[in-house]
Amino acid sequence: MELSADPFAALRADCASCDALCCRVPAFSRSTDFAIDKPAGRACPNLLADHRCGIHADLRTSGFTGCTVYDCFGAGQQVTRVAPDDAQDVFPIMRDLHELLWYLTEAERVPGAEAVRADVVALRAETERLTERLAEAGARTVDVHAHRRKVNTVLLAVSTRVRGRGVDHRGADLVGARLRGANLRDASLRGAHLIGADLREADLRGADVIGADLRGADLRGADLTGALFLIQSQVDSARGDARTRLPTTVRSPRHWGWAGIVTARSAWGR
Ligand code: SF4
Repeated sequence: MELSADPFAALRADCASCDALCCRVPAFSRSTDFAIDKPAGRACPNLLADHRCGIHADLRTSGFTGCTVYDCFGAGQQVTRVAPDDAQDVFPIMRDLHELLWYLTEAERVPGAEAVRADVVALRAETERLTERLAEAGARTVDVHAHRRKVNTVLLAVSTRVRGRGVDHRGADLVGARLRGANLRDASLRGAHLIGADLREADLRGADVIGADLRGADLRGADLTGALFLIQSQVDSARGDARTRLPTTVRSPRHWGWAGIVTARSAWGR
């Protein structure tokens, strides 16, 4: 990957350099996230000939909320460049590897994890080599699930070292939980189910939120400064406002109703 002042640059979606893979490769099922069924490998009927979305401005009101919270982590433009003829098989795996690269890039820079930094750097390099092998030799040559387990072990080691003594809600069922003003500082919320949870004014500083399901969670006035492994799709799926404080790696979504600083964008923002 190219060197850049922004360590996440290659992991941000560049829709202008992509053949709209996110609108063609995955299958959709009619649900609260998608208004239609779409089989894998078939272009969405809303996709225009120039690869822009014909309903981009109205995705949320047209029943395509799922499109607004998806992020390919830059896999789309890479597969378009290096494996366009094999995109159907390669893109989903490349997307997963890029997501792991995002977490490892963040882990490499977290203060307090110096003891495991060498492991993080080595795993990041190994993940980049897997993206190259995937492009050259195809999907069957990469076991992304096994690699994800390896990465998770190291990310957990980072999390354990940098967090204070926060509460442990790892994998907890907190759907609809009333957590307004809760002290969740340095908490482990890894894989927690926080769908529709009331997290208004909650203190989530330094909390590990990797894999937490924040769909419909109310983050108005919450403080997520320094939250670990928070990604854009989690933020995009939640509610928030101008008082919500976020790490610098993510941005306030437009649907939060104010003009936040844009540091990344959704793969679906074409
Ligand atoms: S972003 Fe638009 S074109 Fe792409 S899948 Fe969603 S609705 Fe279809």
